[in-house]
This record gives sequence, C-alpha cells and structure tokens, in this order.
Amino acid sequence: MILINENYTKLPGSYLFSDIARKVNEFKAAHPAANIIRLGIGDVTKPLAPAVIEALHDAVDEMGDASAFRGYGPEQGYDFLVNTIVENDYKVRGLDIEADEIFVSDGSKSDTGNIGDILGLDNIVAITDPVYPVYIDTNVMAGRAGNLVDGKWDRLVYIPCTAENDFVPELPKQKVDIIYLCYPNNPTGTTLTKDQLQVWVDYARRNKSLILFDGAYEAFITEGDVPHSIYEIEGAKEVAIEFRSFSKTAGFTGTRCAYTVVPKALMGYTKSGDAVSLNRLWNRRHTTKFNGVPYIIQRAAEACYSPQGKKQVKAVVDYYLNNAGIIRTGLTDLGLQVYGGINSPYIWVKTPGSMTSWGFFDYLLNELNIVGTPGVGFGPSGEGYLRLTGFGTLDNTKEAVSRLKDISL
Ligand SMILES: *Cc1c(COP(=O)(O)O)cnc(C)c1O
Repeated sequence: MILINENYTKLPGSYLFSDIARKVNEFKAAHPAANIIRLGIGDVTKPLAPAVIEALHDAVDEMGDASAFRGYGPEQGYDFLVNTIVENDYKVRGLDIEADEIFVSDGSKSDTGNIGDILGLDNIVAITDPVYPVYIDTNVMAGRAGNLVDGKWDRLVYIPCTAENDFVPELPKQKVDIIYLCYPNNPTGTTLTKDQLQVWVDYARRNKSLILFDGAYEAFITEGDVPHSIYEIEGAKEVAIEFRSFSKTAGFTGTRCAYTVVPKALMGYTKSGDAVSLNRLWNRRHTTKFNGVPYIIQRAAEACYSPQGKKQVKAVVDYYLNNAGIIRTGLTDLGLQVYGGINSPYIWVKTPGSMTSWGFFDYLLNELNIVGTPGVGFGPSGEGYLRLTGFGTLDNTKEAVSRLKDISL
C-alpha cells in the first residue's frame, strides 16, 4: 500500500490568487468595457537586459560547438559566476564570503523550501506575520508546523509586524530555533536598519538559533542604513544563511537563477550537542539532489554584473521603484497610511476606516477598476491591509493614482 506524507493533507488549498482571479473575471464579465489596472502583480514585467540576452546568445552558440559544449557542471555553480558573486555582492561591501560558501541554484523559492532538509523536525520555527507563504507551507510539509487552529499553525511562532510596532518584529517570548526574516519585506515593503537586525543576530547567537535571511529584494534598497546583506551585521556568519535571487534583481523570474550563502562558521547541533557544519550538510544535500543551473543561465546571471549589465539591470529596478514612489506619494496625499515603496517594489496600504482587506479589494475593483492583493492573504496580521506593487507600467501606475483621487471613503 502506498502511504503518503500525511502532512500534505493538512495544507489548506491556496486560494488567494485564484479568488482574486475569479473576482476579476466576474467583474470583467459584468463590465466588459472597464479598463482594469492590475497593481497586484508580484512578478516582474520588463524584458531581460540586453547584456543578459547577449550573454545567453553567446552561451547557446557555445553549446552548439563541440569544442565549447558543456555537460554536467559543478552542482554548486561555475567558478565564473561564484567568483563574480563573491566579488560584486560581498567583497565590494567589505564582506569576506568565500567561494565555497556560495551555492548557485534555480531559485530562492526552492532554496528556502529545501533548506529544511538539513534541519531537525523538533526545531521551533518562527515567522514574521504577514509572510511569504513558502516558509510556512514547506514547514507544514515537513511536519514542523503542527495543526492549523483558527488560522494559525499551532507549532509555529507568529511574530506580528503591523503599523502598531512599525513593522519591526519583536523578539519572541519563548525560545525559537529557526527564524525566517525577509528584508526588504514581501509583502509589506518595509525594512530593518542595521541596529534592528543586530538585535536578531544577537538573539540567535545567545540561543544558538538559525536565521534564514531572504534578501530577494536587495536590489531595491535605496536608503543608506538598510543592510544589503545580513553579513554586514556583526556575528551573522555564525547564525545566518542568506538567500539571494536574480528573479526580482534582474527579471529572472522565468529564467531561474539564485544563490544561497551558507557560511563555514555556521554550526548546527546533534541532539547530544555535537556541532556539525551546516555548510557541509547543505553541500551534501545540494550535490545529491540538484545537478546545477544550466550553463547558459549562469552566463546570463554573470552578465548582470558587467558594467553594461549593472547599468541596465539598475535602470529596470529604478523604473519599478519610480512606479512604487508614484503610488506611495499618491496614496499618502489622499490621507491613507502607506508603508514600503522606498526600498521595495511593494506598497502596503492600511485600509481606510474599519474596512477589511477584502472589503478594500472589492471597493477598488468595483469602483476604480484597480486590482490589489488583500493583505490577509499573507497571514492573520495582514488583515486590514492591501498590497500594491510597482511592477506595472508607468502609464497604468499614473492612471491608477489619478483614479484613486476619486476615492470617497
Ligand atoms: C520573489 C521572491 C523570491 C524569489 O524566488 P525565486 O524562486 O528565486 O524566483 C524569494 N523570496 C521572496 C519573499 C520573494 O517574494
């Protein structure tokens, strides 16, 4: 008899984006002439940079040439990409990350999900709330989350991040072993300063906890006091794994390339208290279950760091940031409470009055034909908020903001 992993049966359906699609389709059917603007987009929309396309073409030609053809590459990534990452993402910031601490992969979604393979099931896991759903669901699948009771998993520790605490997560009262932090944050668009992140690194060092730091939106940082890497924080190499992705940085959501940093100074422990290198475990896991990112894609990722590539990639990020700024300013001028949008493509809006997330979503769709994402879809503490994004076009963004001027709440 085939026995299944019953943890999967605990997972509720993921209805957020299908519910949104259904509501939008119903509205369209009833109002075929309406010009709907989608500001709920959580995906990039601009094409790959010319430098990336050129590198892809060259690499494709190499693959068709017997003398340059490549088969299996190193599972951890080719030296040309790993060394470029070390140089451009770490060394220039004065951070000493070594090549064998970097693992190139097909995405941060996979890496933040798969990292649980090397971590025990008895760990107590903390997540900030609202949150990127992958962190929760993959812990449910592994059996670390317990049961869903009144909308919360009873073995997970939820750390609310709301306007009341200025979106700065407070240290948990109970001891936790694993902490997921994502900054700049999806969905709230907020950041932590170096001092605020130091508090978490210190906590992790005191408690021998692990911080899983998701830096997918690092390229959107514009302010000086926002750390670009958790390794800018003293002691972080002993307690933190960092996930970085080319998806939002360089429009690779459909191209697929990311990397994960597991410092050699980072130890996990056996039940009897023996220290074991997490770098060694992740290397074993990665080389056993993964066979490397395609050569052509790694060449494309490398091209993001050439002088031309950097300029082109930055121009696209700036375009999204400009959109986010237009939304942020427009909504602020209307008297709404708005967060994010400065170091992030995401704008997190407090719903007016006592409106729920879905109430505000319905209002924007029906009255202004604008689609956002209800905050409650990202966790209980997202209730009373709505996420808008700068990933649309400039024209649509401007049009949406001008429609919002007609808001009557
Ligand atoms: C988009 C995103 C990622 C990137 O995932 P990939 O698998 O690399 O595309 C990672 N974390 C968060 C929070 C994201 O929003």
